[in-house]
Amino acid sequence: MHFKTLTELKLALHKKEISSHELVSHYLKRIERFNPQLNTFITVTGESALQEAQKADDLRARDPENAPPLLGLPMAHKDLFCTDGVKTSCGSKMLDNFIAPYDATVVTKCRDAGLITLGKTNMDEFAMGSSNENSFYGPVANPWNTEYVPGGSSGGSAAAVAAGLVPVSTGTDTGGSIRQPAALCGITGLKPTYGRVSRYGMTAFASSLDQGGPFGKSAEDVALLLNAMAGFDERDSTSLNVPAEDYTQHLNRSIAGLKIGLPKEYFKNMNAPMQKALDEALKVLEKLGATLVDISLPHADLAIPTYYVLAPAECSSNLSRFDGVRFGYRCENPRDLNDLYLRSRGEGFGTEVKRRILIGTYVLSAGYYEAYYLQAQKTRQLIKQDFDDAFKNVDVIASPTTPTPAFKIGEKVSDPVTMYQCDIYTLALNLAGLPGLSMPAGFIDGLPVGLQLMGHYMQESKLLNIAHQYQCHSDWHSQHPTAME
Ligand code: GLN
Repeated sequence: MHFKTLTELKLALHKKEISSHELVSHYLKRIERFNPQLNTFITVTGESALQEAQKADDLRARDPENAPPLLGLPMAHKDLFCTDGVKTSCGSKMLDNFIAPYDATVVTKCRDAGLITLGKTNMDEFAMGSSNENSFYGPVANPWNTEYVPGGSSGGSAAAVAAGLVPVSTGTDTGGSIRQPAALCGITGLKPTYGRVSRYGMTAFASSLDQGGPFGKSAEDVALLLNAMAGFDERDSTSLNVPAEDYTQHLNRSIAGLKIGLPKEYFKNMNAPMQKALDEALKVLEKLGATLVDISLPHADLAIPTYYVLAPAECSSNLSRFDGVRFGYRCENPRDLNDLYLRSRGEGFGTEVKRRILIGTYVLSAGYYEAYYLQAQKTRQLIKQDFDDAFKNVDVIASPTTPTPAFKIGEKVSDPVTMYQCDIYTLALNLAGLPGLSMPAGFIDGLPVGLQLMGHYMQESKLLNIAHQYQCHSDWHSQHPTAME
């Protein structure tokens, strides 16, 4: 049951083959059994989940016609979405004691759609990382091989879905944190167009890049969860005021005639097994009638330097609110106000977060601002222009999601630059504000690899359509780690 898709579970509830209470209990038991090994959850809200499940069953029995679309189905939220009354740690010692007094819009919307939260998932501290090793709560293990990382920063959310501890989950993607862990865990994840999903109550890392999105086992599941998550929110000033869409509507469209661009910069230097897996995936899309077109995104190499100036700059400003005064970690016995600030921040933040705050403060400081921050704003514009030009000729762009499958826990922690290089294929999309998706496209030595699809603004439906058609003609997405059975 636990490796069924959300779509299948939805049908089973509808047909009364199972109750929501049974479903939620089953997943909670799995979390109890596998979480010690995987470390995917920071907080499990078992008691409230069971109560909500009972309510969902009552509502379905009483008024089935008016049941919300995802009534009684379990999910999990990345631990940076604020949840009223439940700890929101952001994977940090700084917020280990923080209980938000309100729900993020995404949390409210998922609840309104009928979903039941089983808990909050582990993540890199304040979403900074590509391996989930920067969490105050320890690393998350990849369910396909527990010696390997699940990717980051939404590593807990991705690993929980891959291990069958929950059918769907939320994540956030500032530079790849949905697509990269989806690829490394063998599931589907989507980063929506910037502004499509409300950032209200989603703890900020780099506000001009952050975007929440769904994880699921299939494109169809991702579409269902995105239906719940997306929409205009007047409490987020960057939210797009566009009409709601049903992302499941075009899943079954033929993809014949679609033009898929292959940027040469994303395929150079690729290792042979990765190349083979992607070639085979692309062949399937070709068989379905899509045309593959060679394209160029000439400024692709600027994505890493641009992102690693802008994201730290924004983070240094966003994280200045954590000062030990109103909420969060406060050091013991401060001598004076300055000591309180210095020690609370020094003790409350982990190494990677401090590194980013230092870099960010540096690139924004007088004398360096023009040389770094302003230059990065200009190169960001060039990267965006590359995509605008490319989308004049193609419908979507395909590429690997990551340069390699998952790496071993500990392998890259001491070398931040090598770690940053893992993000080479995902960062540009955030800099341009575009939507992107990663879907399973094979295995290398038992570890999953992902194919990334990038779309023009608001083209989530097209990405989901292609991914769904691919999944109707391949079965990588329906594999699961046998050790998690
Ligand atoms: N890996 C990137 C970073 O460390 C992206 C993180 C994210 O998308 N939140 O910043």
